[in-house]
Amino acid sequence: MATEGKNSLRQEAVEKIIFHATPKQWLKAGGPWILERGDGAFLYDADGREYLDALSGGVFAVLAGYGREEIARAMYEQARTLNYTSPYATTSVVTINLARKLAEVTPGDLSASFFCNSGSEAVEAAIKLAHQYHEANGERRYRVVSLRRAYHGATMGALSATGWSPGFGPFRRAADPMVPVAGHANAMPPYCYRCELGLTYPDCGLACATTIEQAILGSDPELVSCVILEPIMGTAGCIVPPPGYLAKVREICDRYGVLMISDEVVCGFGRTGRWFGVDHFDVIPDVMVVAKGLTSGYAPMAAAITKAEIADRIPIFFDVHTYGGHPISAAAALTNIEIIRREDLVRHSAEVGAHMIKLLEGLRTHPIVGDVRGRGLFMAVELMPAPSRDENLVLDMAVDNQVAEVARDMGLFIRPLGGTILLAPPLIFTRDQAERTVEVLDAALAEVEAHQLSGTRG
Ligand code: PLP
Repeated sequence: MATEGKNSLRQEAVEKIIFHATPKQWLKAGGPWILERGDGAFLYDADGREYLDALSGGVFAVLAGYGREEIARAMYEQARTLNYTSPYATTSVVTINLARKLAEVTPGDLSASFFCNSGSEAVEAAIKLAHQYHEANGERRYRVVSLRRAYHGATMGALSATGWSPGFGPFRRAADPMVPVAGHANAMPPYCYRCELGLTYPDCGLACATTIEQAILGSDPELVSCVILEPIMGTAGCIVPPPGYLAKVREICDRYGVLMISDEVVCGFGRTGRWFGVDHFDVIPDVMVVAKGLTSGYAPMAAAITKAEIADRIPIFFDVHTYGGHPISAAAALTNIEIIRREDLVRHSAEVGAHMIKLLEGLRTHPIVGDVRGRGLFMAVELMPAPSRDENLVLDMAVDNQVAEVARDMGLFIRPLGGTILLAPPLIFTRDQAERTVEVLDAALAEVEAHQLSGTRG
């Protein structure tokens, strides 16, 4: 496409599309990134440039890779056969097959799925499942305990459970006031690198988990409905909890009759080298939330999955979405899960991820690298090794943006977020692609450091 045509397309995009959480000033200066095609782990933009995608589409969605003929064909066939069913008392064969498959791959006795369209909707549904389960038991419990730094979604209930997460402060403020009945993010994240209490594992005695108990007690324990958390915190910067943390949270929930919701919107379906994030910790939640990787981004779909004993207890579940359990999305999800199984992508994620994190460890020699962490193909390089223990530490946001910008110029797509570089490639990523990613990141860090030191980069 000629340069003039591309510029007018960019201009039109800025005028006619309201972009999600993207500064207008940034869009006006550089325009949006207009993509044309994807293939495997590569993306191609309207200028014909190739990028290695180390972020699964930017928000961790594309597990099985781009351009999967098998998924496209399953969606096409489903569209021809039956493109829609209503969510009331109706479903399709493909949606039942998907529910069966989810019961197989999820841990323990999670077996009943409520289908909707996005992670945010599924978080809302999980919170409603908890409330309505308690109500069926004759209890009026509605308060939600969640973690600071957590991200659970953009709808008002999910946003109310969202804690301060890098870059999401203004997002929350723009939506104030929050839903009043949901307790706000009130417990401490298991963020050992910047422990709010300045403690060190294991001497800390998992004080972060204890703050969940304090949040329950500080509320009225009889009014607390659920604790929601991400088994490995995603948007917060791939925060992996220390051993024993999740088991302790499970114990606390059981002690107070509170349901435990695991938000696996990012961690699900092999992202962290196990089928689900909780599988690393041998903990079974009462409700699990999945989205993103469920369809590898081929169609919108999400689910709140719970145990039969909870689903059976609720006589009529009050939540409804016109496109819940959509047959075409279900066909995409089912085929996607079959591919993940057949190609052994969960084990592949663990193996390539372990190789990649070893290489990333080598980046600690850069003066601006503070921490490297991750599980499977989900990793973070935290910049700015400031020793501050302050939760509100002001990081130089420009540095991570600069690193990502330089990397993109070099043909690598990574994500800067609140001073951290997030890496979450598709699960089909090869060892060579992992090595290439770390090489480019290394070069980008060196370039930014050189300019920072000489003061020539803005
Ligand atoms: N939960 C987690 C952990 C997420 O990371 C996200 C989105 O990034 C959501 C929920 C919300 O999902 P969605 O954007 O599909 O509504």
